Amino acid sequence: MATAQAPRPKLFRNFVVFLTLFILCAGVLALYNSPLDKPKEIGLNELAQHVQQSTVKEIIVVEGVQLNATLTDDTQVTSHKEATDSLSAVLSDYGVTPEQLQNTKITVQGESGWKFFLVNILPILFPALIIVFFFWVMLRQVQGSNNRAMMFGQTRAQQVDPNRKNKTTFKDVAGATEAKEELMEVVDFLKNPKKFLALGARIPRGVLLVGSPGTGKTLLARAVAGEADAPFFHISGSEFVEMFVGVGASRVRDVFKKAKKAAPAILFIDEIDAVGRQRGSGMGGSHDEREQTLNQILTEMDGFEGEANVIVIAATNRPDVLDPALLRPGRFDRRVTLDLPDIREREEILEVHAKNKIFTDDVSLKEIAKRTTGFSGADLMNVLNEAAIFAARHDRKKVAMSDCLDAIDKVLLGPQKKNSKMSQKEKEITAYHEAGHALVAHELNDSDAVHKISIIPRGRAGGFTLKLPEEDRHYYSRAHMLADIAVSLGGYVSELQTFGDVTTGPSSDLEKATKVARRMVTTYGMSDTLGTRTFGQQQEMMFLAREIHEQRDYSDKTAQDIDHEVSRIISEQLHIAKKIVKEKAEMLKVIALKLLEVETLEREQFEALFAPQQASQESKSETHI
Ligand code: ADP
Ligand code: MG
Ligand code: ZN
Repeated sequence: MATAQAPRPKLFRNFVVFLTLFILCAGVLALYNSPLDKPKEIGLNELAQHVQQSTVKEIIVVEGVQLNATLTDDTQVTSHKEATDSLSAVLSDYGVTPEQLQNTKITVQGESGWKFFLVNILPILFPALIIVFFFWVMLRQVQGSNNRAMMFGQTRAQQVDPNRKNKTTFKDVAGATEAKEELMEVVDFLKNPKKFLALGARIPRGVLLVGSPGTGKTLLARAVAGEADAPFFHISGSEFVEMFVGVGASRVRDVFKKAKKAAPAILFIDEIDAVGRQRGSGMGGSHDEREQTLNQILTEMDGFEGEANVIVIAATNRPDVLDPALLRPGRFDRRVTLDLPDIREREEILEVHAKNKIFTDDVSLKEIAKRTTGFSGADLMNVLNEAAIFAARHDRKKVAMSDCLDAIDKVLLGPQKKNSKMSQKEKEITAYHEAGHALVAHELNDSDAVHKISIIPRGRAGGFTLKLPEEDRHYYSRAHMLADIAVSLGGYVSELQTFGDVTTGPSSDLEKATKVARRMVTTYGMSDTLGTRTFGQQQEMMFLAREIHEQRDYSDKTAQDIDHEVSRIISEQLHIAKKIVKEKAEMLKVIALKLLEVETLEREQFEALFAPQQASQESKSETHI
């Protein structure tokens, strides 16, 4: 495990230091034990003579073998005997009588502690020590990981300090009026619970923030923290999902405990779908862990007594996959939906993010808002940021409208590929392709107006035609969807008519056309032959445009009918597109040539291309009359 590395170098260093010190000590001691000025070595018989002559003050028997004698003239001598025999026995062998020996002081010294240790015990002890040491290190590691596993159980929930400066408040959240109102109520509850309790109102336990990514859920929760002077705990659902089963559950327990201790408090669980998925669906694997975690959340939310002022706010972009138990009354029974901003809200969001930027006078946030249908708050922030980056890159002091328009395209389609080597032929094909889309869109009244055409490759697109509704749309009429299909096919038709051949370019157009047609038949009941009903149950929500799994609830025969109907719709629209491109072939050429010349056409430039023709047509009809 990579995580075990931190303590190891320290341990190892300690060990080395310890070993060096030990060897040094041992060396020094050994040195002291063997003095350099060694006393004179004499034979046992000589020592016996000294004893007989009573010239010996003292004999020290060291370790049973060495005899250190001090003579009466204070000279030191040594001698050796066998360890098995006692000193008196040895001396009497040399003719020393016990009486003679009485005058001599005899001391018996055991083996010197250190020497004994060094010589006899250390050789055995040392390997043993090493083994013990390694066991100890291993044990520490195991324990260490255990400790870490214990620490997993604690949350990294951050408590936001309510007193800190430049905190986020509701002022920083543009639009989202209803959501703010709803959450303001929650803040009120926390600040002033008595007011509500006096009227018998039950304090809400859970608020679920629902909205597509980037609509400002996290931002709004942070704003709640800023508004309420209550402690605010913040944790992300993904933090609950760990390697070990049970960790998530204990983290939930921990964070709820902390929040309850700090009550009244707000507990914010971001991305709750990471743990709150429907139980037993078996999606995403490791659902044991997820289920335990989810169960723990449910238990904790039920466990709040009436008085405990902890309000749980959770955010998700997938309310459809949440376990129904989470949404039951008493749990996340309040649901606040954050929609993609409408044109007015987009302008407000842009204003919030424009505050710290300098713009030229021609920049109209209203115009940017108009061109950014379907953008989320995060996208809009991104647009202004990219615009500022463009301006800085060109060493301009102010951000211009052209920077903003470029930024919109970049956020929508990815960065320009200025360096991509398109051959002249490919450029021509792209120009005619985009001209085809634009022409069909222009000619069909049910289609949105063309706002921009470009043949500069961006992201995966070779070029693009941007059409936008005059106002934000929430519903799409059947006529509009049909027109959409025709416009999608316009590129293909134009290529076919101009070059007599098609390229791989329009594949995504065809895919889009097919998808729209299929949806008209199966989801919106817009087909006359198949009737007003839906076919198939989509398990994933449509607004994410992700169909993971479709459950069929119709027969094979119906499946065939659907296929026929889809094909019929497409071929009808193909016919319409072909007719337009054929009749307006001249116009197609004008648009394509202009595109090859200037690469990008804004709406006004595009519409101006039609003007002279209209004028000449009008003058013609005038002469007729
Ligand atoms: P979510 O959590 O819904 O995916 P975030 O709250 O993380 O989205 O939003 C990302 C960023 O987008 C925010 O930090 C903010 O700068 C910007 N943003 C989103 N919605 C708004 C809004 N209504 N007003 C102002 N800024 C917004
Ligand atoms: Mg978020
Ligand atoms: Zn196309």
